[in-house]
Amino acid sequence: MDLDLDAGRLLVFLGGFFAFFSLETFLPNRKSLQKRLQRLRFHLLLALFNTVLVRVFLYVPFLLWVVYVEQQGWGISRWLGLSGWLEIIISLMVLDAFDYFWHRANHSYSFLWRFHKAHHSDTEMDVSTALRFHPGELILSSVAKATWVVVWGPSAIAWFVFEALVSLCAQFHHSNIDFPDTLEKPLAMILVTPRFHTSHHIVERRYGHANFSTIFSFWDVLFGSYCQFDFTTGARLNSNAIGLPEQRELAFSLRAWFTEPFNRRNLQIEDDE
Ligand SMILES: [Zn+2]
Repeated sequence: MDLDLDAGRLLVFLGGFFAFFSLETFLPNRKSLQKRLQRLRFHLLLALFNTVLVRVFLYVPFLLWVVYVEQQGWGISRWLGLSGWLEIIISLMVLDAFDYFWHRANHSYSFLWRFHKAHHSDTEMDVSTALRFHPGELILSSVAKATWVVVWGPSAIAWFVFEALVSLCAQFHHSNIDFPDTLEKPLAMILVTPRFHTSHHIVERRYGHANFSTIFSFWDVLFGSYCQFDFTTGARLNSNAIGLPEQRELAFSLRAWFTEPFNRRNLQIEDDE
């Protein structure tokens, strides 16, 4: 069964990627200044590297851990006696809330930020940005997730549904598409939309240090971290608005992307703090 679920997750990932890539091609929101194929090639290379690393060292042990926790009946959801669809829906909400706090921590603690900034160093945003993660961040987030799996105790099915939704939603909210205001407003009250998340990638700190949600957008409103660039006035982001100014030249350097977390400059900043 787990194999079927795993195949389903992969299918959702590939289908989502293809769908949002097509939408960006035919209905792009921002005009890209970079070559799309270059972006795609670079990010696919990172994804390939991460997939090999993560699958071999993290993914299989992680799945065994999820199944083991379920068999042992550990976690709050077991103690509450949740089951069936109710368990899946509540687990989705709880795991997404955990992700919100984890993402917020990635922006608040300099050790975590060293790795997470590889994602934010992208100077444009499209569906391929959803693949841009440093392996160090994936390792750290796996440890964090393994912890809350045992705290909450989701069923293996709930976990798979959650993971599939996370990848689909990440593709969706990074993609270079936009909705008319009449659709955007009600949608953004529930889900993280491209506008909602584009704002999180804006250089200006008040926007960058806000909007941390992954699937459901209301966590930011609930926990006081909602701050969004006003796209409704027709204001356009200029070409330097997204990314990290200090890394603008290095956005597509494989070496810089990989070594940045271990850069002496980062260590220096931490010593100064
Ligand atoms: Zn972030």
